[in-house]
Amino acid sequence: MKGRKLLMIPGPIEFTPKVLAAMSEPTTSHVADEFCQCFGECLDMMLDVFMAKDHEPFVLAGSGTLAMDAAVANLLEPGERVLVVNSGYFGDRIGNMMNRYGVESEHLRSPIGDIASAAEVAESLENEDYRAVVLTHVDTSTAVQADVEGICRVAKEAGCLTIVDGVCGTGGAECRTDSWGVDVYLTASQKALGTPPGLALLTVSPEGMKAFYRRKAPVQNYYADFDNWLPVMHAYRKREGAYFGTPAVNLIYALNVSLKQILKEGMQERFDRHLHLAGAFRAGTDALGLKTVPVSKDLLAPTLTALYYPEGIDSQLVSRIEDEGVLVAGGLHSEIKQRYFRVGHMGAHTESDIIATLAAIERALSKSGYDFSAGEGLAAAERELLTD
Ligand code: PMP
Repeated sequence: MKGRKLLMIPGPIEFTPKVLAAMSEPTTSHVADEFCQCFGECLDMMLDVFMAKDHEPFVLAGSGTLAMDAAVANLLEPGERVLVVNSGYFGDRIGNMMNRYGVESEHLRSPIGDIASAAEVAESLENEDYRAVVLTHVDTSTAVQADVEGICRVAKEAGCLTIVDGVCGTGGAECRTDSWGVDVYLTASQKALGTPPGLALLTVSPEGMKAFYRRKAPVQNYYADFDNWLPVMHAYRKREGAYFGTPAVNLIYALNVSLKQILKEGMQERFDRHLHLAGAFRAGTDALGLKTVPVSKDLLAPTLTALYYPEGIDSQLVSRIEDEGVLVAGGLHSEIKQRYFRVGHMGAHTESDIIATLAAIERALSKSGYDFSAGEGLAAAERELLTD
């Protein structure tokens, strides 16, 4: 027995052996030359991975929620109104966060599994004056992918700042941060960026930084205040040490390895590979008769799939899949939590992982009494994997 299970939840994900090895190197000082070089490289590479040339990169010790917090606390001011293009749980979270800072959030909601189109967002922006538009690239509770390019285009046309939560997308799902007009692209280390949990990352556009420099109200979050971090990030970009809060040294070493692996693969190749694996996985689950939570094909995320349990099957399926050696996640969206499960396919996941996962799902379905012919899902996925 291998003694470990294949981790196919939507984060944390499987990490490469080199990334994990970097975590276990002896910890250096955070101002050691070697570390300054490493952190500086990370910040530079991050701009290439995020496709955010000329943006300010920040890497803080904390989870993705801290990156959301940093974006909201630094760019928005009390009394401002913001439109949240809500596609699930994480739209609600950032809305609650904004309310905490005295920012008024208004949600453009859609039925579960759907999201407003760019045209619908444009319509909302015509009637009201908003300071910013906030959206989730891939909402991890629904596996719905937003039209980041289209929504940001109409938001910029309306003079709004754009904040995109990329936690379940960055490094796997395409986001051309600068050319698509994304002012803040924020994420966490543990998903398609391929580094264990514990880093909050974000890039801020020149226009976003202008909003920060011009703000009248003080930033109501001490730890995340850009004034504390800008001198630190600027120093590391010059390969010099600086201090505000101790960086997560070993995680930064791991991030350096992962970003190099991502750039070595190439961003377009990486986006294509994620689409290819996602397409094969869903060819398999379609053949098994499993229905996706996203209501149409163009909303399906390349990093994650959310599937309703078929008739007569309940959430026990998740533990049955685990018994077959693969960890998948149960539901997250409160309104349908007991009716669906989620499978992450991103970062270092391979074609073999897709096949292993489908095989485990087939065995678990079979043991749950589901009526299908064994191998159907696997065959459909294999066929898809063999096409270019
Ligand atoms: N946004 C999205 C889309 C997420 O998937 C998550 C994590 N699942 C978060 C934000 C919050 O990140 P974290 O759990 O690292 O705080």
